[in-house]
Amino acid sequence: MSYVESVLTRLKEQNPNEPEFHQAATEVLNSLQCAIDANPAYEKAGLLERLVEPERTILFRVPWVDDQGNVHVNKGYRVQFNSAIGPYKGGLRFHPSVNLSIIKFLGFEQIFKNSLTGLPIGGGKGGSNFDPKGKSDNEIMRFCQSFMTELYRHIGADTDVPAGDIGVGAREIGFLFGQYKRIRDEHVGVLTGRGLSYGGSLARKEATGYGLVYITEEALKSRGDSLKGKTCVISGSGNVAIYACEKAMELGAKVVAMCDSNGYIYDRNGIRLDVVKQIKEVERGRIKEYADRVKGSEYHEGCKGIWTIPCNVALPCATQNELDEESAKILVKNGVTLVGEGANMPTTLQATHILQEAGVVFLPGKAANAGGVATSALEMAQSSGRLFWSFEEVDAKLRTIMVNIFKNIDAAAKKYGFEGNYVVGANIAGFEKVAEAMMAHGVV
Ligand code: GLU
Repeated sequence: MSYVESVLTRLKEQNPNEPEFHQAATEVLNSLQCAIDANPAYEKAGLLERLVEPERTILFRVPWVDDQGNVHVNKGYRVQFNSAIGPYKGGLRFHPSVNLSIIKFLGFEQIFKNSLTGLPIGGGKGGSNFDPKGKSDNEIMRFCQSFMTELYRHIGADTDVPAGDIGVGAREIGFLFGQYKRIRDEHVGVLTGRGLSYGGSLARKEATGYGLVYITEEALKSRGDSLKGKTCVISGSGNVAIYACEKAMELGAKVVAMCDSNGYIYDRNGIRLDVVKQIKEVERGRIKEYADRVKGSEYHEGCKGIWTIPCNVALPCATQNELDEESAKILVKNGVTLVGEGANMPTTLQATHILQEAGVVFLPGKAANAGGVATSALEMAQSSGRLFWSFEEVDAKLRTIMVNIFKNIDAAAKKYGFEGNYVVGANIAGFEKVAEAMMAHGVV
C-alpha cells in the first residue's frame, strides 16, 4: 500500500461517518501522489498524517431564545485545521445541514485554497446547524451573540480570523463583531467581511464571484478564447452567484439561469440581475418570485434541472455535491466547455472525472473561489495597516491574485505531467507551500 493510500485508509477508519471529509481528503491526497513520491522526507516526517488531523477542534453549545420566549440549543463548531503558513482563516456557515464532517471538509479545503492565494493565511472553518431562514433580525442577533460568547476565547486577529460563508453575511458579521468587541474591548480585524463603517474592505462582497470570473476568463484566454458571447448557467443566488453573474455579464457573457435551494429560473433573454438582487439581497425572498416579475422567464421546482439547460460555461455557486454524475453527462452532451466551481466542492468526484475525461476545462473550487478569502486577507492587511484602499485598488489586486493562481496551478499540473488537469495542479500548488512550512517547523 502506498503512503497516500495508508493515510487515507487510516483517516476513514478513525473518522467514520464523515463522508464529505473523506471525499475532500481523497481528492486532495490522491492527486498529491507524485509530489509525495518526489519527496520521501514527507513520509518520514509523518507529514500527511499531521495534515489530515486538525490542530484543534472546538465544539460548543449555542443556546438562544426566540421571539416567543422559547429556548433553542444549536451546535457550534470551529475547526482550526492548519496554521503552518498563517493564522487560521475561513468562514462560518450557518445552515441546518452543518455537522462535523461538513466543517472538516471545508476546513481541509481551506488550507490549500488559502495557500494558493499566495497570502499568509492558514486554514480553518466553523459554523452551526442553526437555520437563519425565517428568523427575525432580533433572533439572528441573539444567536450571533450567543455563538460569539463562546467563540471569542478561541479567535484573534493573529490567531484565527473567521468570516462569512453560507448563511453568514454582512448582518451576521456585524452582530458577531459587536459581541466580540464588547467582550474583549478590542476593535481589531478579528473577522473579515466587516461593514465599511467598521473596518471592512471595499470589493470584499463582490470578491468571490468576481474572482471566479477572472480565473474563468484567464483559463479561456489561455485557449485563445473569452467569455464574450458565451451562454452561462450559474447555480445559486447568494453572494457568490450574484457577483459572478455581474462580472460575467460585464465581460459579455449571457447568464440564462440561477437557482436557490427550492428551484431554478430560466430566462432565455439573459437574467436581470437587478431583479435577483432586489429579491435576494433586499427582500431575502425566494428565486421563484423572479418568474412573477420578469416576463418570458420560467421557474422550475428542484435545483438539479438547472444543469439540463444548454450552456458553454457552467459555474456551480450553490453548495457541496450539487453537480452529480448524471448532470455532468448532460452538461457534456450539451457542449459545455468550462466548469468553474464558485462553491466549495459542488462537483462530486465522479462528475469531476466525467467532465475531465470529456475534455471540459475544470477549475476546482480551491482555486476558482479563492478570491473571497484572498480579499479577506487584503482586509486583514488594511486593518493592520489602519488603511483603507479604493475599490479599484482592491479589485486590481484580486484580479492579479486570480491570474497568478491560474498560472501556478497550470504550471504545477505541467510540472508533474498532468497538463490541463487543474485539480492536480491546484492540490499540488496549494500543498507545496504548506508542506515546506510544516517541514521547517519540525514535528508539531
Ligand atoms: N467562506 C469563504 C470561503 O469558503 C470565505 C472565507 C474567508 O473570507 O475567510 O473561502
